[in-house]
Order: sequence, then C-alpha cells, then structure tokens
Amino acid sequence: MSARYDVVVVGAGPAGSTVARLLAQRSFRVLLLEEHPQVGQPCHCSGLVTPRTLSATGAPPDLVWNRVQGVVAYGPEGVVLSLSAPQPKALVLDRVGLDRFLAEQAEEAGAYLLPGARALGVERNGDGTLALRLRRNGGEEVVACRLVVGADGSRSVMARYLPAPPSGEAVYALGGEVAVQGLDPSVVYCALDPVAYPGWFGWAIPLGDGTARIGVGTAQRGVSPRLLLQRLLETFPPLRGARVLRLQGGVIPLASLRPRPLVGDGIMLVGDAGGQVKPTSGGGIYTGVESARWCAQVAGRALERGGCSARALASYERWWHGPLGREVRLGAVLRRFFLSLSPSELGVALRMLGDPRLAHYLRAYGDIDFPGRAFTHLLRPGPLWTAFRLVPLALWPKAVRIAVQWAYHRVGIGIGARPWSLSP
Ligand SMILES: Cc1cc2nc3c(=O)[nH]c(=O)nc-3n(C[C@H](O)[C@H](O)[C@H](O)COP(=O)(O)OP(=O)(O)OC[C@H]3O[C@@H](n4cnc5c(N)ncnc54)[C@H](O)[C@@H]3O)c2cc1C
Repeated sequence: MSARYDVVVVGAGPAGSTVARLLAQRSFRVLLLEEHPQVGQPCHCSGLVTPRTLSATGAPPDLVWNRVQGVVAYGPEGVVLSLSAPQPKALVLDRVGLDRFLAEQAEEAGAYLLPGARALGVERNGDGTLALRLRRNGGEEVVACRLVVGADGSRSVMARYLPAPPSGEAVYALGGEVAVQGLDPSVVYCALDPVAYPGWFGWAIPLGDGTARIGVGTAQRGVSPRLLLQRLLETFPPLRGARVLRLQGGVIPLASLRPRPLVGDGIMLVGDAGGQVKPTSGGGIYTGVESARWCAQVAGRALERGGCSARALASYERWWHGPLGREVRLGAVLRRFFLSLSPSELGVALRMLGDPRLAHYLRAYGDIDFPGRAFTHLLRPGPLWTAFRLVPLALWPKAVRIAVQWAYHRVGIGIGARPWSLSP
C-alpha cells in the first residue's frame, strides 16, 4: 500500500465505490477503505430499487432477482390498498452482488481497495495534506492524502469532521430474509400502521423462490425494532407461517427539509453518510449513486485545481440544492403529512387512493425515486376534486391544509433549488 494518495474514500458501499471508480478513471490515486473483510457483507438492505438505478450503477441484469409491478398496503382498521402497473416499477437486486460489482469496477479503474481496514479519524498535516488514521490487522496506520470522501454509511465517522456535524431524523430498522409461501412475486407488501410501527412501516418483498426480504423500522428511540419485527411476523397477513432465515439491524438516516452540510476543508460526505436517503421509503441506493457522480465531479475538479478547501468543494452542496435534493426534501414534506395522520385518517387516505379514478394517477406517475410527482398530479384540479368528494366532510380542513402546504413547499423548495453549476 502506497502511503500517499490523492483521495481516500472511506466505505466500499454503492456510493463509495462509485466515487472511487470515477476518480480513478480520471487517473487520481485513490484508496478505497472497507472496514469489513468482505465487501457487501453483512447486508441489511432489501435491495429494492427502480429500473433507473440499475442503469445508474451499470450493474448487469443477472443481479436482478425479481421484478415488481405493484404494492399491497395493509393499513389500519383492516383497509387494504392494492395497486399494480402494467410494467415493472421496481427491481429487487442481489445487494451483496451489487456492492461487489461496484467495488470491482473501482479496482479495475485503478482504485486500491483495502478490505478489513477501518478509518478512525483524520488530522491535518502542516503541509495542508490530511493524515487519515486507520486500523487493520490489529495495528494502526496513517495514510496521507489531499481529500477524504466519507462514504461510510449511516454511522459515519467522517461526518464528525464537518464544521457542523449532520443531525436529522433516523429510522432504526431490522431487515432480513424469511421463507414464506403464498406471496405474489409481482408486488411488495407494506404494513402501514402508525400505532404498531411508530414513524415508519413494515415490509415484505418476495424474491419469487419461496423467500422474501422483510423489514420493519421505527423513528422513535427506545422502541425496540426486534419487538416490532416480532409483531410483524405475528400479525402481518402476508407473513403468516414465515420462518426467519437471517436478520440484520441498520440505521436509515433520513434526508430532512433543511439540507445537511456535505463538505468541509478536505472532506466530502456522500450517500448515507451525508443523509442522502429518501424520507418516504428509506431508499438510499439511487440517491447515493447519483450523488456520488457529482461528488466525484466536484472532487476531481478541485484536485486538478490544486485545492480542496470547503470553498472549492462547495458546488457539490449547491448541486444537492438542485433537482434531486429538491425532490428528496419534498419527500420530507410528504413524510410530515404521513406522520400527521391518525390511524383512521390513514385508513381514509388509503381507501381514497384505491378509488379507480385516483389509483390511475398512482399507476401512471408512482415512482419510488420521485414520489412527489404522483402527489403533485393528485393535486391537479380533476383528481383533487375527486379526492375531496371521497374524503368525509370532517377531514376537509386537514385535506385543504395539506394541499396548501404542499403548494407552499413546492414553490419554496423550488426557489431554493438553484440550478446545478460547476462555477465556484
Ligand atoms: C433494513 C434496511 C433496508 C433497506 N432497504 C433498502 C432498499 O430496499 N432500497 C434502497 O435503495 N435502500 C435501502 N436501504 C438503505 C440502503 O441500504 C442505504 O441507503 C445504502 O446502502 C447507502 O449506501 P452507502 O454507500 O451510502 O452506504 P453503505 O451501503 O452503508 O456503505 C457504507 C460502507 O462503509 C463501510 N464503513 C463504515 N464505516 C467505516 C469505517 N470507519 N472505515 C471503513 N469502512 C467503513 C461499511 O462497512 C459499508 O460497507 C435499506 C436500509 C436498511 C437499514
């Protein structure tokens, strides 16, 4: 291992390996650190992504284990919403395979992958370079570099080195795999109940071979995800008779309405480390990989110009204020609406969305990467009028408030969403 690099990327998840590949392709000397001995393991992720994510990662189609066209959502009071589109809306990926594929791509591009190496911290050398401390094989080592990219996930060590460490809502989740019979492989199943799963939901994603990826989460500290999982296994109809094959806990750092800091002097954060996760679904693969591309672009430019100050890296943060970050922040608004509903209001909302006149919009515009699009279409005069006729009169004030707030945030976040520009 050479002791001097242009960039050290901490974490060989989808975001880190993508940054490492793109910078290595530009002939920078890149070290990619992974704390675990095997890239991709242990895996907590359910691997549900949109088809555009497959294109964004460049992953081969044999990593797709299932294609999903719809959703069956079990709400409070026995309400069940069932929606299906004619074409696949989502893919279930071999998540371990995806991480390995992306890390191999980074290596092929020239990055040096170091598994079993845990980054501990970073200090500034007198000559303006950085000294990154890492532990491997039981000993400590120091690597000199010009830039550190923290792609070290939801419990990021590197995030501590930003002037204002990120804060925001987190979901404490438990994911895994079960053996279960009788699931329709063309849909995902959701358990939506604000009392049973406070602040989040439960899910089951069939793989089509008698197994399913499952998970459950809560945004409330002190609530045990294990207890919630037990509840899911005991009460969620699709999981009746399921046998647990493996479980793995994880934290999902949700993007908030106010963007988190992403750069400091010589440091950038990407993916979960930067809270680039959709607040509606907890999905972070697409946002992480997309953000990685811009992170690499700005990093490459700063390295070429010879300086990696926070100012030189600031255009990456500005990009996050642009269309993708805007959509993710609108997701935070949607999440607020979702959290404001009582169980019976949620039941009304699900019944309403199942009405064929509205379900049509969800089928046409529903997109887990851009959930705000379908919601915006539902607030056009025609569907809005239909929705109001389906909502009991007592709920009209709340429905009006939600519609007005959505319009307010769309405009507000839109004004804040400056167009992407590379000029410093
Ligand atoms: C239960 C659960 C289910 C999920 N399901 C989905 C889903 O279906 N679809 C979806 O899009 N998203 C899902 N997510 C979210 C998704 O897993 C993350 O958003 C995604 O993995 C983020 O990628 P990343 O590269 O930023 O971070 P990670 O994938 O977390 O990668 C970070 C890497 O850094 C390494 N690392 C950490 N600290 C250090 C250190 N100090 N030194 C060296 N290496 C370090 C870790 O070992 C890891 O390999 C789920 C999350 C959970 C918890």
